[in-house]
Amino acid sequence: MRNDEGAATTSAELRAHNLARLLRAIHDGGGRLTRAELTRQLSLARGTATVLVRDLAGRQLIEELAGPVDATAQRARGRPTGVPSAHVRGPVALAVDLRDDSFTMAAVELTGRGTVLDRQERDAVSGTGMLTEVADRLKVRSRQFGGRVVGVGVAVPSPVSGGQMVQPTLPEWQDVDVAAVFSSAGPGPVLIGNDATLAGLAEARRGVLRGVSVALHLHVATGIGGVLLTGGVPVAGAHASAGEFGHMPLTGGHEPCRCGSTGCWELDAGARGLLRAANRPEQGDRMLEAEQVIAAARTDPRCGRALAHVAKALGRGIGALVNAHDPEAIGLSGLAASLYLADPAAVTAGYLSALMRFRRADPPALLPSTLGDLGALTGASELVFDAFLTPRGLAAWPSPEQKTA
Ligand SMILES: [Zn+2]
Repeated sequence: MRNDEGAATTSAELRAHNLARLLRAIHDGGGRLTRAELTRQLSLARGTATVLVRDLAGRQLIEELAGPVDATAQRARGRPTGVPSAHVRGPVALAVDLRDDSFTMAAVELTGRGTVLDRQERDAVSGTGMLTEVADRLKVRSRQFGGRVVGVGVAVPSPVSGGQMVQPTLPEWQDVDVAAVFSSAGPGPVLIGNDATLAGLAEARRGVLRGVSVALHLHVATGIGGVLLTGGVPVAGAHASAGEFGHMPLTGGHEPCRCGSTGCWELDAGARGLLRAANRPEQGDRMLEAEQVIAAARTDPRCGRALAHVAKALGRGIGALVNAHDPEAIGLSGLAASLYLADPAAVTAGYLSALMRFRRADPPALLPSTLGDLGALTGASELVFDAFLTPRGLAAWPSPEQKTA
C-alpha cells in the first residue's frame, strides 16, 4: 500500500515535471516547433509526448495546429505531426513598460506573441498618480482576460533591489515597491525588473541575442542601461542592480550627472545628450523628440551634426565595454538601434577607435533589435512565464471545468 502511494506520487511528480518541461519548450520555441521536433529535443518517447500534448490541450494550455504542409517531410517521418501552439483561452502574462513620462501595457501569450493594450503619456499627472492609473488599468485588463492572467511583469526605469526602485529616473518613485502597489491587479505574482535588463533578456530569448554565448545588450532611452548575459542568463550583480553602463565615465566628460557621479556616458550618448546637441528642449516624451532629431538629420544640418556626435559617443562607449567584457555580440535597442541604423558609419568609427588593437580585426557584431518597442514588455512577460512554467505554477492553472464553474 505504501509502495503504491509512493509510486503514484513519484509518477505524478514526473508527469508534472514533464508537462512543465514540454510547455517550456513550446514557449521557448515560440510555438513554431512541431511535436516531433519537441519530442526529439526533450528526448521523450513518442507515446509519452502524445499523452503529454493531449493533457496540455485538455487543460487549454495549448492547442495543436496542423503541421507544415510538406508531404515529403511527412512521408520521411512516417506520419504528419502537429504544431503545439498557444491556446485561444490559454495563459496570458500582462506586461507593463513603466517610464517616467509614459506607460505601455501589453498582453503576451504563451508563445511570446504580444499585443499592446494601452499606451499613455503621463502629461500633468504626478508619478504617484500614474502608478494608480496603471494599477486601475491592470485590474480592468485582468478582468477582461478572465482567469487567463497568470501574472504581471513590470519593467521599471530604475535599478531594482528587493522589489523596490532604488534610484528611479523620477525622484517621486524613490524606494517605491511596485509589486506591492500593483498587488491588487489580480491573481498571480507581480514581478519587476529593470527595463534595460529586461530588454536584454527579451533579446536573448526571442531576439538578436538568441543562442549567443556571452552577450552584451545596451538599451538607450533617456539614459543608458543594459545587461551582460552568459548562456542567456543576465549577470544580475550582488544586489541585482548591475548593468548601469550609462553611469560610467566612458567618453571623457566632466559634467555632473543626475545619478550623483560626473562625466557619465549617458550625458553624451542618451536621449538628453542628443536633444542637447541638437539644441532641442528636454521636455515631454524625450524618446519621441530624440527620434524626431534622428529623422530630421538628413535635411537639417544641426540635427545631422548632433546625430553624428552622439552616434560616435555611443560607439566609443561600446568599444570600452567590449574591452571589459569580451562579448560575442552586442544587442542594441531603443535609441541605440535608431542611432546605429541612422548612422552606422559614425557608431562603427567610434566603436573601432575605442577597441584594443587585437580586437579590431574581428570586432563583435553590433546587432540592432528587431523587437522594437516590445523589448522591455517581452522581457517583463518572460519573468511571469519563468514563474508559471514550473510544476508549481502549472498546478495553479484551473481546469476548463473550474473556469466555467
Ligand atoms: Zn550618472
